[in-house]
Amino acid sequence: MKALVYQGPGQKAWIDKDMPEIQKPTDVIVKITKTTICGTDLHILKGDVPTVDAGRTLGHEGVGIVEAVGSAVGNFKPGDAVLISCVTSCGKCANCKRQLYAHCTDGGWVLGHLIDGTQAEYVRIPHGDNSLYLIPEGADEEALVMLSDIMPTGLEIGVQYGNVKPGDTIAIIGAGPVGMSVLLTAQFYSPGRIVMIDMDPARLELAKQFGATDTIQVGAEDPVARILEMTGGLGVDVAIEAVGVPATFDICQKIVSAGGNIANVGVHGTPVQLHLEELWIKNINISMGLVSTNTTPMLLKTLNTGKVNPGKLVTHRFKLDEILEAYEVFGNAAREKAMKVILNA
Ligand code: NAD
Ligand code: ZN
Repeated sequence: MKALVYQGPGQKAWIDKDMPEIQKPTDVIVKITKTTICGTDLHILKGDVPTVDAGRTLGHEGVGIVEAVGSAVGNFKPGDAVLISCVTSCGKCANCKRQLYAHCTDGGWVLGHLIDGTQAEYVRIPHGDNSLYLIPEGADEEALVMLSDIMPTGLEIGVQYGNVKPGDTIAIIGAGPVGMSVLLTAQFYSPGRIVMIDMDPARLELAKQFGATDTIQVGAEDPVARILEMTGGLGVDVAIEAVGVPATFDICQKIVSAGGNIANVGVHGTPVQLHLEELWIKNINISMGLVSTNTTPMLLKTLNTGKVNPGKLVTHRFKLDEILEAYEVFGNAAREKAMKVILNA
């Protein structure tokens, strides 16, 4: 079969690879029908994630058809259409019992990281019973691909950890796929005002179409001054960081109101300065974390009933064997006006 393989910093190739095989009775082999590329894949390619070995197939998102199941798999059979979760989990360990699947002692984020991932014709999913979801008949498969990672990330780490409530004024910093997923899922909780902050005017325009009530363009405007002006000097109830650099975490610290929440979603590669000397007296909560995908069943319901349509995040489509071209487009997202790309097998 063909797979997109990481070959060390800056290097990738679409090459022939052995078909995955059942290694444990709980494994499921899935034939990929649709997958996508994540900002994390770009980080890996830059060499920012040293735990990824050369030779690793990338990708942790997708949908497909069950090809084979191990003897202990009870929920799936060959031919079933399934959604793949970016986090695989045993469902039995102490962390899984708390729904903290991100920290499953025999799983977590391993796909396209510690084991071969979904940017291939076939993938092996460990603990298939707990890591796959049956796709309902007639469901929008492009929209479903957004449920592998970005939608649960936005909902769990941004909206739920940030405790977004009806009427709140919230700010989202970073209008990438993850920030947009925060924007879409925050609306489940009816915040009164949603301010999207980014430097890319095209992404801010899209954010308005997706429900942002206000936008602030970093570079053209001072986000801190604008937010304080908008809120009568109080600041926002929830500041959600969806970039992963010190400058944007700093904005969050400056715009959060007394009693408010800072929810950090971004993956940080360098230390950030925490201003406890200013924040301690403001009764601030700060949260952070790796997505567990425990909200996937809820997101499936919202998708199936049309409550949310994450399919609108898809801007580009390619055939799976055009994946190198897709990486070019996704890697130059601002120039190409790309948000999410879909690869069709
Ligand atoms: P992305 O790179 O596509 O989007 C980031 C956005 O931030 C871009 O639109 C960019 O223009 C904007 N930006 C960059 N610098 C800025 C600045 N100084 N001020 C304002 N805006 C700025 O990334 P993404 O795929 O949307 O992911 C966002 C973050 O979420 C990444 O750090 C990613 O690694 C992280 N992430 C976290 C989890 C988790 O479990 N916590 C899961 C998935 C992704
Ligand atoms: Zn577990």
